[in-house]
Amino acid sequence: MNVIATHINYLLICKRKLWLFANGINMEHNSDLVAQGKWIGENSYDQRANKNEELEVSVAYKPEGFREEISLNAKIDFFDAKKGVVHETKKSDAFEEAHRAQVLFYLFVLQKSGVNVSKGIIEYPKQRETVNVELNDEAEKEVKKWIIEVLEIVESETCPPSIKKSKCRNCSYFDFCWSGEEG
Ligand code: SF4
Repeated sequence: MNVIATHINYLLICKRKLWLFANGINMEHNSDLVAQGKWIGENSYDQRANKNEELEVSVAYKPEGFREEISLNAKIDFFDAKKGVVHETKKSDAFEEAHRAQVLFYLFVLQKSGVNVSKGIIEYPKQRETVNVELNDEAEKEVKKWIIEVLEIVESETCPPSIKKSKCRNCSYFDFCWSGEEG
């Protein structure tokens, strides 16, 4: 199995969303918000030659308590190799915890690949905010736990229940989860 940053991100937003995505029920291409987010990521920092800084890393990893190795894959939009910092640009800070988890995952994959890097910056251009992220010992434990949780959820035969929270409003699975519901 491959674990990617989207799995980690969705784990922190909604376990059901993670399960649906991982099981091939993918509606992200229908979402205007996703397209808008991508546009912001690609156009907010024109001064960067970010096409040159994109980085794709894959590394074999054996989670604790698992017999088999899995693959961790990170597709990083902007890696400042000189300063050793991973940058991630987001449209909204509504899911800051999920964004933090995503960047920690990138840093973890880079470290497992032998790249000595521990710092990341999440950028919210619309809000003119940045959030610093660091992969320290505590954060590394969190990443390892998230990877195991992703594997358990993805490999489960049952789809987790809907969460019915404000998170659903902009989710691409909204119709899938709530069609037929009143209000
Ligand atoms: S609509 Fe809500 S319950 Fe359904 S996947 Fe999205 S966040 Fe989860």
